[in-house]
Amino acid sequence: MLDQPLVLLDLETTGGNATSDRIIEIGLIEVHGGRVLREWSTLVDPQVRIPPWIEQFTGISNAMVAGAPSFAEIGPALHAQLAGKVLVAHNARFDYGFLKNEFRRQGLRYQAKVLCTVKLSRRLYPEHRHHNLDSLIERHGLPAAERHRALGDARVLWELLRVFQRERSPDELAAAVQMLLKTPSLPPGLDAEALEALPEGPGVYLFHGDNDAVLYVGKSVNLRERVLSHFSGDHRLNKDMRIAQQIRRVDWIETAGELGALLQEARLVKTLMPIHNQRLRRNRSLCAFQWEPGRAPQLVQAGELDFSRLDNLYGLFKSRRDALDCLRGLAEEHGLCQRHLGLEGGRGPCFAYQLKRCRGACVGEESAAAHDARLAAALARLRVQSWPFAGPVGLRERDAAGEREELHVLDAWCYLGTLRPGDALPDADTLRRQARFDLDTYTILTRYFAKHGRRLEIVELGAQRRVPPAA
Ligand SMILES: [Zn+2]
Repeated sequence: MLDQPLVLLDLETTGGNATSDRIIEIGLIEVHGGRVLREWSTLVDPQVRIPPWIEQFTGISNAMVAGAPSFAEIGPALHAQLAGKVLVAHNARFDYGFLKNEFRRQGLRYQAKVLCTVKLSRRLYPEHRHHNLDSLIERHGLPAAERHRALGDARVLWELLRVFQRERSPDELAAAVQMLLKTPSLPPGLDAEALEALPEGPGVYLFHGDNDAVLYVGKSVNLRERVLSHFSGDHRLNKDMRIAQQIRRVDWIETAGELGALLQEARLVKTLMPIHNQRLRRNRSLCAFQWEPGRAPQLVQAGELDFSRLDNLYGLFKSRRDALDCLRGLAEEHGLCQRHLGLEGGRGPCFAYQLKRCRGACVGEESAAAHDARLAAALARLRVQSWPFAGPVGLRERDAAGEREELHVLDAWCYLGTLRPGDALPDADTLRRQARFDLDTYTILTRYFAKHGRRLEIVELGAQRRVPPAA
């Protein structure tokens, strides 16, 4: 691990926001081949006031930085010094983010392999809950002469790496570092900077190619991980390889949870028809059997019926042919009469009866009622679930932290959109006009309802005007 050139770095800043706050001190230690090559540190004039609590926390006052160089003065030399080296820092996204922003202000682009010692510690010592620097100093008995000064903290990182080397085998350490450094090699057409902002929460992502053509739509409970996994470099999927060659831009929509992501994905795939998503299920030919005892099952098209409100529907099938194949299969399996099922014309004994595969409903050997009872049993598992509510409802979904909240508006297994707290609700007629039954949404919702059952948070929307607050 220590074979490659490393820069152990710590920054002090005017605050915690990498875009609006500024660096006031930089401390770094260059390490190569397991040896310290040099230590360097400098105060930096942030050209804004250091807030009092930061002065107190770091011991760096406004007076101290008054004569120090600005970042503009040290930027080019620092940029050269960091080039080609692995950046090692504690909670590295913080330091990396600040450096990138300060360099950007100077028109310099900074990109490095980054090794976070919080993540490394967590991977090597998963039994411990806390991995902040104070906990690690105490746990490993590290010397910490100048805590909260940049070089002082960088030295703590060096001591920490040496503890890792003593306490863990070279193989174990190398594997952990490699895992953390495994930065995906991004496709050439993609701006790496733009991916920095990818959130780690649930949502939908869109890959765009030339002329903003939509290449692919996907969903995940961790957008960042999923998007980067497309470019992991090994291209196990041929599809990922083709996407990597064409991609120019990534967009995403954050959602409160998994259901929102699933519904949005299904809707976007249908409306945008991305090149690399699987062929769409065609609603046009979606159909089901409608059946009441005493009659043969009737094939009905999705467009002709309110699929959701009837309880005598069986299916659903992607095509007429799928539907007829399924009914024929049931007839053979259960010894039903194909003539009674409307699958065979003519009079007298059906063809299957002559082969002893029909129990004789066609010749009066089995009563119509007995045949119907067996047909009902055979069809039972295909029954289309009817919509369990009187009208449109909102299904509330919240993220784990309780910060993001969404209300998915649903009616008759149709997805009508997602609202935020306080949004105005469209009236029931408008909602009903927008409803388009769709097999993917039906499948997503019935599965989700079956899985979450009585934990679902449902809001009846009939009489409401606005998204009501959570109970
Ligand atoms: Zn028969």
